[in-house]
Amino acid sequence: MDAILDGLNPAQRDAVTSPAHVLQVLAPPGSGKTKTLTARVAYLISHEHLQPWNIVVCTFTIKAAREMRERIRGMIGDGLESKLIIGTFHSICRRFLVRYGQEIGIPKNFGIADTSDSSAIIKRIVNRLQSTIEPGVARSRISNLKSKGITAEHFAATIKQTTEHEFANLYSTYEETLAASNLLDYDDLLLRCTELLRKHPLCVSSIQAVLVDEYQDTNNVQYDLMSLVAQAKKRITIVGDPDQSIYSFRSAEIKNLHRMRADYPESVVINLDKNYRSSGCILISAIAVIEQDESRPNKPLVPTHAVGEQPTLRHLATSRVEAQWIVGEIKRSSTLSAGLLNLSDYAILLRTASLSLSIEKAFGDAGIPYRMVGGKKFFDRAEIKILLDYLRVINQPDHNDALVRVINVPSRNIGDVTFKGLLEEAEKKKITLWTLILNFAQGRTRPQTKISTAAQKGIDTFVNLILTSRKKLFPGEEEECNLIDLIGHVLQKVEYEKYLKKVHKENWRERWANVEELVAQTTQTASTDDEDPDDALPMVEGIEQRKDTAADRLSKFLRNVALSTEADRADGELNQVTISTIHAAKGLEWPVVFIPGVYDGSIPHSRAEDHDEERRLLYVGMTRAQMLRRPVPNETAVAAAQSLLERIEDDQYPLTREEIDGEEVSLDPNVGRSKQSFNSASGAGSFKRRKLDPLSGNSRTPVPIRMNQSHTHTIAATTMQKANPGFTSATVQHKILQ
Ligand code: ATP
Ligand code: MG
Repeated sequence: MDAILDGLNPAQRDAVTSPAHVLQVLAPPGSGKTKTLTARVAYLISHEHLQPWNIVVCTFTIKAAREMRERIRGMIGDGLESKLIIGTFHSICRRFLVRYGQEIGIPKNFGIADTSDSSAIIKRIVNRLQSTIEPGVARSRISNLKSKGITAEHFAATIKQTTEHEFANLYSTYEETLAASNLLDYDDLLLRCTELLRKHPLCVSSIQAVLVDEYQDTNNVQYDLMSLVAQAKKRITIVGDPDQSIYSFRSAEIKNLHRMRADYPESVVINLDKNYRSSGCILISAIAVIEQDESRPNKPLVPTHAVGEQPTLRHLATSRVEAQWIVGEIKRSSTLSAGLLNLSDYAILLRTASLSLSIEKAFGDAGIPYRMVGGKKFFDRAEIKILLDYLRVINQPDHNDALVRVINVPSRNIGDVTFKGLLEEAEKKKITLWTLILNFAQGRTRPQTKISTAAQKGIDTFVNLILTSRKKLFPGEEEECNLIDLIGHVLQKVEYEKYLKKVHKENWRERWANVEELVAQTTQTASTDDEDPDDALPMVEGIEQRKDTAADRLSKFLRNVALSTEADRADGELNQVTISTIHAAKGLEWPVVFIPGVYDGSIPHSRAEDHDEERRLLYVGMTRAQMLRRPVPNETAVAAAQSLLERIEDDQYPLTREEIDGEEVSLDPNVGRSKQSFNSASGAGSFKRRKLDPLSGNSRTPVPIRMNQSHTHTIAATTMQKANPGFTSATVQHKILQ
């Protein structure tokens, strides 16, 4: 008991131990919602004697799931935590569908089309149908319809305008293509799982509690899912913060908070109001942003840390200067900290991923290692995609899209005209490309398409490779399939290393190292059932179970790949700066946070209709800044760092004095500091704002970052291209300065 409740405040303890069956914990950022949710899971197991495999926990990322599992392990021990059913909505649905999907006609070895697969499929259909619809628009429209539960047939039956027929045709062709390759896309995972749990409540009969983190960003389909998974015992805990609702573009419904109270009148609400993450100054600034939304009810947010350093706000003329300023500040502050700050303590949080270009370039030039979250995923790298596609085809030769991508990689002399001919022939005969080429290779049918001898030889080699690999995947009764052997076989037959050397002369080594990493991962995931154990699902009487074969394990690995994002990859102890979108930074914290591009058109974004949501986004970004809780370096170390910095500064700081001086408006470094307006020890009291002359703090040289105290700061660097008194960075700046 102690281990679970230790280190929690009274309100958090109430939430953890609450006997309420339906509980909403609503609280601001950094108030320990995730910590409380984790403790409640441990509490349900150790005090209410629920079995971990009867508890479903829904987290925002797979990485968050992993971290939560770790924390629970610390509280209950015994390896029980590995039995929890924990993951994102998508991965939880995937598990139910793998285990019970046959009940609604989904084969156990279904594949998952990730976002880039879906885009590629749609692009090809648009080309083939010679449609005028923009593929990106089509994709989001299809996704939107699906998330509202409107099927292709349903859509076609209801359209009134003839112009809609083109889209209806595209939508139904997309669905047919997925079905032909035995694929589900992200939306299907949620929808088909909803269908499964509606029709077969038995599948969730053993689920005794459902807990959801970041509830403010659930959409209607996810709400239905949550209720369906919890239908046996109707025991639900959610934690969330309406002020951090930033996913309305994905149909997230803040109304779901009220809907839940209406659907479950027994709901109990607990509020937490102490912030354990950020310094007082950060909170003042963040609140100044969010409270401009006047429709929002005022809520208390009590800091538990000292006022701390004032966040810095800079006007910098261009994104290049901005990026260089950030590089300079990172070098300066990490050197000055004398080991207190590592590169992994810094995060650059962006409104849109495209803003990363100038930052990545500046980091590259300065030799600062970084990790781009939500950027090009490991699994999206060309050399990895090709190998994964081979595995997909081996697993499921009817996976047309994967087959199309690899049949001529490396070149098997199949020219464009031949290839197009083959596709058309397959389509005419209403068979998959695989069946077509298999028939040729085995001499069952003669091609109608004109194929050169060299191309025919290439096709035969490819068919042979897939057939021999499938033999390895589905060996006889006596033999065990070994996935390392299988991948080794593919790499060798394809002569993959040689291919990479030839095509990527400059960086083939790095690419080959990635391939080796993938091999290691495949074998790990496939053999240990590590973090996402489908086996954690309960056995249910009356529903058929099957033991996993090697082929099932490969399918599972490929499905895991499709659901994972860069944010989910274990980053280990890497000493790298994090670059992320603000969206993907939800729930996380770093000692130093930069938010570049706080200008009109970026935040708020030019396409954003809802400025309140843009404000919430900036609020989420700013509240990621976390008070450092590490030992402060001693004075000698700080002095040494200071003199080191003075010596190296000219070389290290990438901006000239003119560039900085010309543009700088810095905050008064003393704001808020002199007035100890709340009692930081007890956390009681409230902030008092001091009106400041914005220019009084405008020293012409950069304000040095002091390291003689434990501190944290957000730096909102702005490139003010356009001032808009309505909302915008100008208002934000004004408010921060007040
Ligand atoms: P967000 O809204 O950003 O997701 P949150 O409410 O989920 O934030 P947590 O991430 O759970 O907040 O906690 C924020 C930080 O505060 C964490 O570092 C956590 O360990 C710490 N924390 C939470 N509660 C306490 C407490 N009672 N005592 C000390 N530290 C705490
Ligand atoms: Mg959280």
